[in-house]
Amino acid sequence: MRGCIFCQIVRGDAPARLVHQDDEITAFHDANPQAPVHLLIVPNRHIEGVRDVTPGDAPALGRLFVVARQLAEAFDLLDGYRLVVNDGPAAGQSVPHLHVHLLGARSLSWPPG
Ligand code: 5GP
Ligand code: ZN
Repeated sequence: MRGCIFCQIVRGDAPARLVHQDDEITAFHDANPQAPVHLLIVPNRHIEGVRDVTPGDAPALGRLFVVARQLAEAFDLLDGYRLVVNDGPAAGQSVPHLHVHLLGARSLSWPPG
């Protein structure tokens, strides 16, 4: 989608520190990290948020979790890490392209704010 920063990163039209890319999923370091490891994992297809997910997205989103597990292992986070999806403005979603935050390498309190 034109004007979407994450679509631009997926296409290689905007810079990012990529840690994974395949035909369905891209992952890269968050520009404003909230933990020593803070990655964003996104479907390559522009989906605005969880509210826009359709049954046809299931294979890509299932694959997204496989990538999350692989990255957690690659970044040595298997002691514990957190996956976060903010959906909608009240939850703090600031980029309208579905993304999963992968946070780790520090202790993470619960509940989140
Ligand atoms: P949200 O608040 O929508 O759940 O998370 C959006 C995340 O995207 C934030 O953590 C923010 O730091 C990150 N972000 C926003 N713009 C960019 C960008 O251009 N590049 C990268 N790597 N991260 C971004
Ligand atoms: Zn997009």
